[in-house]
Amino acid sequence: EASPSPKKQFSNVTVCSRFRPLNSKERKDHGGQVCVCRIDDETFVFKDEKEEESTFSFDKVFYEDSLQADVYEFIALPIVRDAVNGVNGTIITYGQTGAGKTYSMEGPNVLESDDMKKGLLPRVVDGLFEHLASAGDSIKYKITLSMVEIYMEKVRDLFDLSKDNLVIKQNKDHEMLVSGVTEIHLSDTGEALQNLHAGIQNRAVGETQMNLASSRSHCAYIFTVQPVSTRDRGRTGKLVLVDLAGSEKVEKTGAEGKLLEEAKTINKSLSALGNVINALTCSSSKSNHIPYRDSKLTRLLQDALGGNSRTALICCCSPSTSNSSETFSTLRFGTRAK
Ligand code: ADP
Ligand code: MG
Repeated sequence: EASPSPKKQFSNVTVCSRFRPLNSKERKDHGGQVCVCRIDDETFVFKDEKEEESTFSFDKVFYEDSLQADVYEFIALPIVRDAVNGVNGTIITYGQTGAGKTYSMEGPNVLESDDMKKGLLPRVVDGLFEHLASAGDSIKYKITLSMVEIYMEKVRDLFDLSKDNLVIKQNKDHEMLVSGVTEIHLSDTGEALQNLHAGIQNRAVGETQMNLASSRSHCAYIFTVQPVSTRDRGRTGKLVLVDLAGSEKVEKTGAEGKLLEEAKTINKSLSALGNVINALTCSSSKSNHIPYRDSKLTRLLQDALGGNSRTALICCCSPSTSNSSETFSTLRFGTRAK
């Protein structure tokens, strides 16, 4: 029997790609031509506008007919289970604006109840409370939620917009903390959803006030699961979901001035994230340097990426050939992260 490759042996990183359905504009332009040709659940052939082909493989490929429930079960459920047992986890959506990051994360909105549309966040909340309920009465848990937005390397509290430049620190147990961030105690699913909804609405309000686009900032949903009884102290699990800023190139948007600065900052933090994930998946020795300090995002995720934690990256893509160059760069990012 062949031994697993060193990469698999040391990696707790799952990388998937997800193609949303064509939208009406893509259907009209370019005759609805698609860039992706399914081979199986892990492999597809990608065709660019010049009909040049390349093959990509991921831990899983979610095609346009994939269900929100499938994405949850494959990607998030194992991480949710582990979070309840004190293992940290991170679920990240990556891709150009319009590729389906927020739809995958939230669904049409976080309060959506239709199972066909419901996104990862409400399912994660359900999963957390279900697993805690099944743990029985022997252990009592406390679940908290914080929400922050990272824009131009500044961390803003989405439950208190006056806290607009929070500091990320590491405590003596090597846990990463956002100093002074609002932590909301969640006692049930309904309360969790209401708070997520409020945080998301706050994000939109803040952005309108400051004339920003949500696609230009990262949004992190930070859940902690802490056993309350002293017997189990020390097994706090942290689960972070991250809806990243759009990965599109600057040239395409013709940015200048402030927009160019924005684009550079986003590009830098996305590269930092790619470098960290790459360092994690490539390292066969623990002494390998992981460049967490290169961005606020990777710093925030330091204790939820690598080490004893689990990471899932969802590379969100348009299926249209009209977006093939952005899609290609998204797929390359995902491939490097494997
Ligand atoms: P992003 O957050 O990456 O900018 P969105 O998640 O907002 O992109 O998706 C862009 C549009 O495509 C939205 O109108 C969304 O409802 C739709 N969409 C994205 N993914 C899917 C999907 N898997 N199924 C149906 N519609 C989708
Ligand atoms: Mg979005």
